[in-house]
Amino acid sequence: RHRRLWTSDHQHLWHPFTQMQDWLAEEPLIVDAAEGVHLVDTKGRRYLDGVSSLWCNVHGHRVKELDDAVRAQLDRVAHSTLLGLASTASIEAAEELLRWTPKGLTRVFFSDAGATAVEVALKMAYQHHQLRGDTGRSEFVALRGGYHGDTLGSVAVGGIDLFHRIFKPLLFPVHHAPQPYCYRCPLGKERASCHLECVDAVEQVFAERRGKVAALVLEPLVQGADGMITQPPGYLKRLRELCDREGALLVCDEVATGFGRTGTMFAVEQEGVLPDLMTVAKGITGGYLPLAATLATERVFESFLGPYPDQKTFFHGHTYCGNPLACAAAVASLNLFRSRRILEALPGQVAALSRALAAAAEHPRVGEVRQRGLMVGIELVRDRRTKEPYPYAARAGDRACREARALGAVLRPLGNVLVLMPPLAMTEAQLGELAGIALTALDRATGALDR
Ligand code: PLP
Repeated sequence: RHRRLWTSDHQHLWHPFTQMQDWLAEEPLIVDAAEGVHLVDTKGRRYLDGVSSLWCNVHGHRVKELDDAVRAQLDRVAHSTLLGLASTASIEAAEELLRWTPKGLTRVFFSDAGATAVEVALKMAYQHHQLRGDTGRSEFVALRGGYHGDTLGSVAVGGIDLFHRIFKPLLFPVHHAPQPYCYRCPLGKERASCHLECVDAVEQVFAERRGKVAALVLEPLVQGADGMITQPPGYLKRLRELCDREGALLVCDEVATGFGRTGTMFAVEQEGVLPDLMTVAKGITGGYLPLAATLATERVFESFLGPYPDQKTFFHGHTYCGNPLACAAAVASLNLFRSRRILEALPGQVAALSRALAAAAEHPRVGEVRQRGLMVGIELVRDRRTKEPYPYAARAGDRACREARALGAVLRPLGNVLVLMPPLAMTEAQLGELAGIALTALDRATGALDR
């Protein structure tokens, strides 16, 4: 059976973010089932799911409460539209979501993927200013190294050269400011002498585009896809103040950081920041079904109120906006945060993971271990003293992930960074096991590169 599926995969599938020539040359790991925090492949082997199936299965897999909620919803209605109709499931999901999101966000626009939630935020921000008569505000500021999804709008605000540069001719112009990458500060600062010059750099961009910026878009606290780049304390708060001074909206993309990932329900809470627009996806359904949301303040929403006919309609919508099955999963997932007291338990797990990673931080081929909550990036370097990176072609992160698989854990590389995004449901012992596998894997991979 494994052999047949392998052949069929290679004949029919086109995998995301994958160099298909390489893929076709190798035997794939085919996930067949899952249990708790483990994935099971077609050969019956079990793996710790160290990345929550692309950062979304916060409670792990086959969670009874989520299974039951989706089944119960199937007995009512699997899908209905939000265009011209309301639905019980989407109303309940919006109510529950707003109980957890920062106070001041009052409106929920459902969509079906993180990228679309970002598209929605960009269009809302732009139209908000247009409707208020501030028609010159049509530009966006974003950070280098940012990742907001793969649709063209979200790629335009994205700042990862490797993923985004090929599409440049198709994109609207966005002003990118340096990222707060303290380990390799783009402004040449050291931690001891840093005065958040990276904030000054964003201010500079705004000064050059005064009155023209619709919104600043960023991932709060951690830039995930660029390698878990953690922001220094105070950074986000200063950018909120900057947006207020400049009359621009602040869009916080919590697609990766949301739902407990950084140690609080949402990352913005740690800086006491209220964004004008906030995007969520991934963990919203506990990783069960595709759902995303763009949350807005009443101020943004009110710009869209006015008599018909005029341009106050927000012209955006997808067939599966607020799909009832996904909404039911979202409600059940949020209920689990309450019934299992997940946020209360998190500090213990975060500390356990941090202790377990201490040995990795000392490894001669590890430049830095960056951890915020249960979001971890281990940056591999050829030379710890000079911070010389491994060349891209060495595929250091990819090699480490292969070793990890052989040891029984699924991890993902981001270039030279080994990523750990375990389900919040992992026990301290499982987190220790995962960190141990990551260390052995990176030791073997870098050892092979050294030879
Ligand atoms: N925004 C951030 C911060 C992300 O990390 C991601 C995905 O990794 C996205 C947006 C895109 O989400 P999706 O893959 O659901 O479109």
